[in-house]
Amino acid sequence: MSQMPNVHDAEPIPEEARAEIDRLLLSGDLFRYTAPSDAPVALLEREFADLLGSRYALAVSSCSAALFLSLKALDLPRDARVLIPGFTFAAVPSSVVHADCQPVLCEVGEDYRIDIADFTARLDGISAVIVSHMRGHTSDMDAIMRACAARDIPVIEDAAHSLGTTWNGRNIGTLGRVGCFSFQSYKMVNAGEGGIMISDDPDLIARAIIMSGAYEHNWAKHMAADDAALRDAFGRWQNRLPLYNLRLSNLSAAVIRPQLPLLADRVARGRDNHDFVADLISASPIISVPAPLTPERRAPDSIQFNLVSLSDAETLAFAEAAAARGIKVQVFGQSADNARAFWNWNFLPGGTPELPGTRAMLMRACDVRLPVRLSRDELTLIAEALLGAAQDVTADTRAFGT
Ligand SMILES: *Cc1c(COP(=O)(O)O)cnc(C)c1O
Repeated sequence: MSQMPNVHDAEPIPEEARAEIDRLLLSGDLFRYTAPSDAPVALLEREFADLLGSRYALAVSSCSAALFLSLKALDLPRDARVLIPGFTFAAVPSSVVHADCQPVLCEVGEDYRIDIADFTARLDGISAVIVSHMRGHTSDMDAIMRACAARDIPVIEDAAHSLGTTWNGRNIGTLGRVGCFSFQSYKMVNAGEGGIMISDDPDLIARAIIMSGAYEHNWAKHMAADDAALRDAFGRWQNRLPLYNLRLSNLSAAVIRPQLPLLADRVARGRDNHDFVADLISASPIISVPAPLTPERRAPDSIQFNLVSLSDAETLAFAEAAAARGIKVQVFGQSADNARAFWNWNFLPGGTPELPGTRAMLMRACDVRLPVRLSRDELTLIAEALLGAAQDVTADTRAFGT
């Protein structure tokens, strides 16, 4: 059998990053506020805001930091209730707890998207919403924005895994009041660690910039000279906010910036790869790959699918059969201590709620990484391994005469 591709490793860093990293190492200019202007982190913020089409960007140490700062920047009262999806990474409820707010969970459907009826039913008494586009799956943003606008509830988009995804032609992360992205190694842009938040709201971004660690008048390095609205906002918040020091280093910016021009190509390849594998594995009667919503144009670097009409034991047997064929399948709800299974979020104040629909989905939802670098031949090997594993479990079932 041919060699199964390595889907575990992150994407390599473009060669162009080296000259800039060398320059930074030689000068020791690693801190974003040392240079009087145009520090690599500041340039990254300008380039990222322009790329996404937003007014402001603030680069920070992680997407988790961006989510936390977004909540703090909204100036919510202590114990404010923040609605989040029941299927997301543990970073999302953690950011809510960290910001002294109360996470409220809503159901997520079999297509990994927020259950709009359940979401709407839980909106009373909610002060803010974090929409997590989990694994890049976009929930119905028209319905969510309409419901939240009607109640004047601000929406934070956790777009950690959605860089390059569009909704009705608009970039994900620009629909809510704030959008948060990750540069952790398993996202579309790899800096090991890092995050960025974007917003058009000068008051919100001024608060976030100060709290991210722009002590004294370092906020001046975040603004165009003619931005009176932002200058006024900094004046309003000077010395009135705690500093959390969640800044990004120039070294990280040097790793990120040369990847931004590659994004469009990565997105196109990621989508082609995903759709190619989705088509092949959909031939199996026990594999179902949820379709995108109509306004959504995705930017996947992994594939998720549901196992249909299998028991728990058969679901685990499928993952084992895939592993035996050289491909790692994570079933979100079946691996011990999975950080994306809400019942493991035992740090939630008041305990973890029950979400029967989300739980049922997590028990059958499979996750396979598909790095954008993979060739058609490698993708075919992965699809064949998954189809083979599906056949193994259905053959076993027949053999035991159920
Ligand atoms: C990766 C991820 C995060 C956390 O990002 P960090 O930069 O590692 O803090 C949050 N939400 C989602 C949906 C993610 O995929």
